Amino acid sequence: MKKLIVIRYAELSTKKSNIKQFLNKLKENITFALEGIDFTLYFDKGRMFIETTEYETVLDKLQYVPGIQGIILAYEVNTNTDEIKDSIITLLKEKSFKTFKVSTKRSDKSFEYDSMEFSRLLGGHILKNIDGLSVDVHNPELEVKVEIRKTSTYIYLDEIKGLGGYPVGSNGKGMLMLSGGIDSPVAGYLAIKRGIRLDALYFAAPPHTSMDAQKKVEDLARILSKYNNNINLHIINLTEIEETIYKEIPRDYLITILRRMMYRIGEILAYKNKCKCLVNGESVGQVASQTLSSMTVINNVVKIPVLRPVVCFDKTEIIDLSKKINTYDISILPFIDCCTIFVPKHPVINPELDICEEYEKLIDVDGLIKRAIESEEVIKIRSEKENKYSDLL
Ligand code: ATP
Ligand code: MG
Repeated sequence: MKKLIVIRYAELSTKKSNIKQFLNKLKENITFALEGIDFTLYFDKGRMFIETTEYETVLDKLQYVPGIQGIILAYEVNTNTDEIKDSIITLLKEKSFKTFKVSTKRSDKSFEYDSMEFSRLLGGHILKNIDGLSVDVHNPELEVKVEIRKTSTYIYLDEIKGLGGYPVGSNGKGMLMLSGGIDSPVAGYLAIKRGIRLDALYFAAPPHTSMDAQKKVEDLARILSKYNNNINLHIINLTEIEETIYKEIPRDYLITILRRMMYRIGEILAYKNKCKCLVNGESVGQVASQTLSSMTVINNVVKIPVLRPVVCFDKTEIIDLSKKINTYDISILPFIDCCTIFVPKHPVINPELDICEEYEKLIDVDGLIKRAIESEEVIKIRSEKENKYSDLL
């Protein structure tokens, strides 16, 4: 009996016309995720199969690959009635359950039984050989699925839920504005799941922000990189911009103007890195800079689409997701981000575009942006590297 993994990709199967391209991407991403592991991957009649000697490791890694709907644990036996019957008893004896049903699919029509007959035959065989079981066709604890093909028959007992979504990269690239907060890593995760391969952008403002704050962002990026096949983290020095704005701009518009600068830089870096959108963790109403009026005047400085995956989520929903993907414990570490230092007591709730434009005449927008872009540093984040805060996870 050969142990196999079958990959189920439900949402992909709705994309009839470009399924081939999607599957190639998925194959490429799985191959990347399983780098260094002994495995073979092949397609057979519309299914993707993986064989490996490192079963547990492969199962673990596959749970981070977007585009996989289900990971089915399968057993391959010869298409021979006695062998199928014996194998099923061996497998079921290792499991604990009280009710079951057998479903058979037969692609080999020359097989000696039809599907219904064979399910009944196997059901009877199980009842005879294992004590204390009963059949429940509506709500069984265990469903034994049998798929009969010409030479091989597959027995499926368990399915692990995959991430769902689309293979990373199948929907192009995006630039994630990644702070050390709770929202932006979750926003990034959701974008990755839609098939958008991310680069990340972090604005640092030393000495107002510490190296610890940056390390925290690197660790968040490292968690995202597990889903994204590594990640390039672009670090931009925002110190001159922050200090200039702090000196020249009236307090209530500090954050609005600062965020307009961040968006402008984000757009330039996005295009430079072949990204088709910006992604951020804004959520309507969360803070003064995220009212609809604020978002409008801030967004006004860029043409690039800005995706805000958590825009309509409650904070509690975002927190739940951040716990699920293990970014929460890192996000709540208390290192100061660039935005937090300059937060005025009374930021404007409904900023006006012409006032922003007037105020920006007080600073050298182009020069500041040019110098900020020149400060760019890129860190290539590799998912397998040790986490500084991994003991917290
Ligand atoms: P988060 O929203 O991730 O919890 P935050 O609350 O510190 O972090 P906000 O002030 O809500 O950030 O900013 C909204 C969004 O702007 C963030 O979700 C993030 O996408 C982006 N952003 C804020 N600060 C930075 C930064 N220092 N570097 C990169 N992007 C940032
Ligand atoms: Mg936020």
